[in-house]
Amino acid sequence: MLHQLRRLDKIIPIRLHLTFWYLITLIVLCAGFVIYLHIRFEDRLLRELDTSLELAANQAANYIGSEAGQLVFLESDALARLEEDYSLVLVAEDGTLLAQVGDPDTPLPDTLATGYTLFERPKGIHHRNEDEWRVYTRPVIAVDSGVSGWLHVGQSLKQTQSTLRSLTNEVHFVFPLTIIVAGIGGFLLSARAMRPIEHITRTARAINTTDLNQRINYDGPNDEIGRLAHTFDRMLDRLEAGFERERRFSGNAAHELRTPLTALKGQIGVTLSRPRQPDEYAATLRSMEQQVDRLIRLSSDMLLMTRLDQQPRQPLSDSIKLDELLGALVDQVRPLAEDKQITLVEELSVVPVIQGCMDLLIRLFMNLLDNAIKYTPSAGQITVHTTQEDEYVTVYIRDTGPGIPAEHLSHLFERFYRVDSDRARDQDRSGSSQGGAGLGLTIAQEIVRVHSGTISVQSAVGQGSTFTVRLPVTPQV
Ligand code: ADP
Repeated sequence: MLHQLRRLDKIIPIRLHLTFWYLITLIVLCAGFVIYLHIRFEDRLLRELDTSLELAANQAANYIGSEAGQLVFLESDALARLEEDYSLVLVAEDGTLLAQVGDPDTPLPDTLATGYTLFERPKGIHHRNEDEWRVYTRPVIAVDSGVSGWLHVGQSLKQTQSTLRSLTNEVHFVFPLTIIVAGIGGFLLSARAMRPIEHITRTARAINTTDLNQRINYDGPNDEIGRLAHTFDRMLDRLEAGFERERRFSGNAAHELRTPLTALKGQIGVTLSRPRQPDEYAATLRSMEQQVDRLIRLSSDMLLMTRLDQQPRQPLSDSIKLDELLGALVDQVRPLAEDKQITLVEELSVVPVIQGCMDLLIRLFMNLLDNAIKYTPSAGQITVHTTQEDEYVTVYIRDTGPGIPAEHLSHLFERFYRVDSDRARDQDRSGSSQGGAGLGLTIAQEIVRVHSGTISVQSAVGQGSTFTVRLPVTPQV
């Protein structure tokens, strides 16, 4: 049974759920309110009746005399008027009935004391038609003779009960009507509230990877649903941008792979077109080796980028002194710089140890140093500078190269972006250690990102370029 209820629970639409719980709450609240009203109303009617009984008793007490030592009602108009609404009973001190006007069935209390007595209808089918009574009892003294006794003033509760019954009848009619109207209203309201969600569902269903440009474009109020629709649209924006980036990346990657492969194919074709001397074959193989190197570099760059993408948190467990690391790297590239008569200047002040991944940081600074050497003409100068700024170690790599035009600066770190692709490739053919695919700075930026640092470039045409890397002394988790 419980299991079936749970299954039902899963298939019932949310608007029915909402309406159901709303109705249950409404029924409980209304029922509580009606019960409270009924009790208060009944109590109030009884108290009003008590006041009128006491007033009637006080009035009637003025018209009591005695005859032969026994209390009697005196003839009077006022008493006659009282008789119309109340039953009046006179009893002696010992409880003997002396006189009675009004309903002869008026019940009397067993004990004689000032106060009110409620005669409820005995439970059971036989007494169904008997009235309930309220009786007020008080002592009386005949003014003329001083004879004393007790006066009971009673009234049937028929009137009070019929007032209460008519109230109950009205409630019986109004209550279900209220629930039905509230139920329909609640259902329509929740259906209306759910409509944008239906819209979101339909849009989500219509979206696939080739058609990510659908949007909800919700123009309703900025409530919970409005915010959900807005968040959904922004998520689609990000997904679309992500897919677009991936598409561009695949296209660029295919293009970059095809270029050396086409060159290889051409060289093989030319070489095979006629018999050749062994030294010609050797020369072709050496040239082919360069293309293969380029392919290997490209594929390992792409692999590294995928790894950095997939594992945003690399283990940053090496303690690294950047001034020492950069000193070693500068020594490593010095022969390349000397080949081009470039002066390498080291301004490596001692900086705090940072936590990071040694392999990745070597890759980062090698990329920047390689670029500086690659793009700086002969007799130029490259300065490597370290300093501490607040909680960061900052590294500047400054060159006296051609500089980068301003319009390229904001794109420099994008995948496969090259300022001048032909120049980069020509330089690459001339033997630089970094390929010219336009991935070097993207990789540098990814490495800086996993170290929670920043990388930026300042450059102006004819004034050289400065790449600035800031790495936190304590990595941010
Ligand atoms: P590449 O592999 O082509 O060098 P990078 O991502 O390392 O790719 O660099 C992107 C582009 O930025 C390069 O094509 C080059 O035009 C420009 N660039 C990078 N470093 C320098 C520099 N030090 N001086 C001038 N231009 C630079």
